[in-house]
Amino acid sequence: MSSKKQAIEMRKFTAAEQRAAKAERVSVSEAEPYGWVAESKAGKETYILYSSPFTKRLVCTCADYIYRGKDDPAYECKHVTAVLKFIARWYLANEYDPIRQVCKNS
Ligand SMILES: [Zn+2]
Repeated sequence: MSSKKQAIEMRKFTAAEQRAAKAERVSVSEAEPYGWVAESKAGKETYILYSSPFTKRLVCTCADYIYRGKDDPAYECKHVTAVLKFIARWYLANEYDPIRQVCKNS
């Protein structure tokens, strides 16, 4: 497939969908003493993410988040998307309790 055709194919996805795809190329680890480190697989960019105590949402230190997130606290850059998946996997492996979910939902 030509790069021009690929570019046209990519435009069929929303910006959020394209970010979700890019999140697959971000590796995540725990930061010290808290928060998370998001790193591009190429290893060129490293960002720190933390959970805002006010919004209960992840905040990223990348330019994309700072620029687009300032007017939209629900904005999710590719690092936020990657960290959310990391946290979800950790939660399922360590914290998830179906009994608590049943109690919460009933
Ligand atoms: Zn980011």
